[in-house]
Amino acid sequence: TEACLGAIEGADALNAFVHKTPEIAREMAAKADARIKAGEAPDLCGIPLGIKDLFCTKGVASQAASGILEGFRPEYESTVTSQLFDAGAVMLGKLNMDEFAMGSSNETSVYGNAVNPWKTDDRQLTPGGSSGGSAAAVAADLCLGATGTDTGGSIRQPAAFTGITGIKPTYGRCSRWGIVAFASSLDQAGPMTKDVRDAAIMLRAMCGHDPKDSTSADLAVPDFEAALTGDIKGKTIGIPKEYHMDGMPAEIEALWAEGRAMLQDAGAKIVDISLPHTKYALPAYYVIAPAEASSNLARYDGVRYGHRAKLGQGDGITEMYEKTRAEGFGEEVKRRVMVGTYVLSAGFYDAYYNRARKVRTLIKKDFEDVFAQGVDAILTPATPSAAFGLGEMQDADPVKMYLNDVFTVTVNLAALPGIAVPTGVDAQGLPLGLQLIGRPWEEGDLLNTAYALE
Ligand code: GLN
Repeated sequence: TEACLGAIEGADALNAFVHKTPEIAREMAAKADARIKAGEAPDLCGIPLGIKDLFCTKGVASQAASGILEGFRPEYESTVTSQLFDAGAVMLGKLNMDEFAMGSSNETSVYGNAVNPWKTDDRQLTPGGSSGGSAAAVAADLCLGATGTDTGGSIRQPAAFTGITGIKPTYGRCSRWGIVAFASSLDQAGPMTKDVRDAAIMLRAMCGHDPKDSTSADLAVPDFEAALTGDIKGKTIGIPKEYHMDGMPAEIEALWAEGRAMLQDAGAKIVDISLPHTKYALPAYYVIAPAEASSNLARYDGVRYGHRAKLGQGDGITEMYEKTRAEGFGEEVKRRVMVGTYVLSAGFYDAYYNRARKVRTLIKKDFEDVFAQGVDAILTPATPSAAFGLGEMQDADPVKMYLNDVFTVTVNLAALPGIAVPTGVDAQGLPLGLQLIGRPWEEGDLLNTAYALE
């Protein structure tokens, strides 16, 4: 804990930790010490972690990197963080992210962007998003692991951009209670760690049934670490032809081919598969996620949480709502609320929202068909490029940024587990990652396949 607190002090330039909690960390570390002395040593006893700002942490600023939650200190602890702390983990502070987890570069944060510890001679790079602070902090050794959340790739894309491991479990594996909602049917928490074994250990502490989240699954938590045998002989790995995107850098194709060869050498059978509705995944995601967000974000009204605008003479409650939301939300969040409200409106509901839901069902069925044919896991690139430069995608068409999520959003739409593992570097020495997608509830198997790739 002391080593991490020291490292954090020296790493302000990364802008990864947005609320530091050294006193709390030292108190928690002392408790962990006492537990060890008492002969009790739970899994994460004394392990210092960073917590994404999207998780409500009791008495500690939890702002989802938004101006509208300024000053918000929850009265409660999210289920995931309370389970981590019960397992002995130490909280070092809260981590930067895109505002309300909307973004792929951490540049929509009210705190300003986090910075990738990897850089080129002439460029500073994004750590990815939305869990950009989590990725930067783990990659720069400021903490041993961090929590992330993933609605359309926000654990896996930043993991790939910073050379770390990140798993999004099956939807329903982790409780969403106490995590600020973005798109409730897609949001899942997961660990971001240095390697697959750490991910398995941390995930075990994070998940489990929670009566406070009706979508959390009432299933026993398997021992994910025990699943890491490294033996994948006889497993069938699918390579989806639709993921060979036009214009994808040759380096990513080469990395993908290398991953395929590694799994084959380890005894897996490789098969070519088709996920025919892949091309509709991004448009469906960017209708469904904003629709759910526009509804979830309606609660920020200047009454219940955080920021309230100063009102002028004669301003009534409508002006209070309008001014508060105009001041409190950033540009990307406003864009999503407008898109979401539009696609849910009476005249356009069938044309957009309902159609996107049908597409989602077809995407889910693509995966079910492939799993029914005996495929155990699917191997794809995690991202279509290495980390891009800070500012490079801003001011551009927002759709350009959305395209970065092309390989990750299908997994959320289909509620499946997905993991990003660092597997190589590009010509500039920047990390690149591959993604493995698994069968529902088979995170143990998925982690083990990733372990063979590591
Ligand atoms: N980049 C995607 C978006 O902006 C995914 C974000 C996420 O997974 N939270 O919506």
